[in-house]
Amino acid sequence: MLKPEKQMTSVSIVHCDDYANVKEAIASSLELIGGLDNIVHPGDRVLLKVNLLSARPPEDAVTTHPSVVSVVIELVQDAGGIPIVGDGAGMVHPGATAEALEVSGIKRVAEELGVEVANFDVCGYQKVDIRNGKQLDTIYVAKPVLDADVIITLPKLKTHELTLFTGAIKNMFGTVPAKIRKKAHALGKNNVFSQAVVDIFSVCPPALAILDGVVGMEGSGPSRGNPVDVGVIMASENCVALDMIASRLIGFDPNDIVTTTDAASRGWGPATPEEIMLLGDPIDKVRVEFERPGQAPYAALPAFLIRYLSRFYSMKPRIDQDKCQECGACIENCPTAAIELPYPVKIDDAKCVQCYTCFELCPHNSIFIKKSLLTRIIK
Ligand code: SF4
Ligand code: SF4
Repeated sequence: MLKPEKQMTSVSIVHCDDYANVKEAIASSLELIGGLDNIVHPGDRVLLKVNLLSARPPEDAVTTHPSVVSVVIELVQDAGGIPIVGDGAGMVHPGATAEALEVSGIKRVAEELGVEVANFDVCGYQKVDIRNGKQLDTIYVAKPVLDADVIITLPKLKTHELTLFTGAIKNMFGTVPAKIRKKAHALGKNNVFSQAVVDIFSVCPPALAILDGVVGMEGSGPSRGNPVDVGVIMASENCVALDMIASRLIGFDPNDIVTTTDAASRGWGPATPEEIMLLGDPIDKVRVEFERPGQAPYAALPAFLIRYLSRFYSMKPRIDQDKCQECGACIENCPTAAIELPYPVKIDDAKCVQCYTCFELCPHNSIFIKKSLLTRIIK
């Protein structure tokens, strides 16, 4: 079996035409790049960062397939690690992550294997300063991400209407709360939005990426496209390298993917695909030309107009003072100290990052979400 030279970044490609065979495929993909034992050590808390974009069943190819999650859980356990499965849903509304965990089948497989599920909506976020960020300087990141000894990202092979392609780097976008995501989206254009994605990625770059490409999504990804049987599992210790090869595999030029080129320019991975050692099956065996995504509807607007309109798109938590029992749970769990005493407590919108932790954790259902008119129209 071909082994990678130490100094060269490697990406493994393993043909897998059915989720029934994914255990063998993932095991092979990891063996090719040197094995999981080099990455996960006994006692490590290992966050499996899934793609939990929205509440869609596995056959829609929007979320990481539960079979992939299940296999990686078992492999991490075999290596002596403590797996934790986590994400925050992208289609944000309160309760979205809990719903997506159920519908995607990811919660079921995690619970069957006795593994903790980290719903980022209720785990809390922590303030982080980004060194040398291009678009973001201070963000909030889900605590399970910061607490993990090892992060394994499990992206789905999909197109994206704004970034063209979404893989290992873009998958880390789900680690920040709604207000940070909105701020990034309000940048409006692919190049600057992608730089914001890389800023977020740079906080906690995963030690390993395993890509679910057994069934991918083409066209209007990441949620409105069409499932495609690609039949591939890929793995790499370098997210930039994995994204370069995965985007090439679906017929895109890696130089067109700004999340990849920007991360590479910052030193997070190889500058070109030619610097990557490919292991396993030949890329031509699994190459599939994906239909390219159309442009996101709002992306056609000038950036200044997107920024202006984004001010009118909001979902702000509010406290129903008639129902509030003054228990203090929201104050205790708010990551930004946006809810302040004395009672009756109020929410400081300037400090609130719209993580909805207070909404999720209020034991008396006293917190509701006030949607702006534009939000109601769009929803
Ligand atoms: S958690 Fe709910 S009931 Fe408790 S203080 Fe906050 S709003 Fe009031
Ligand atoms: S007020 Fe609620 S939604 Fe806002 S940051 Fe605090 S916990 Fe999150």
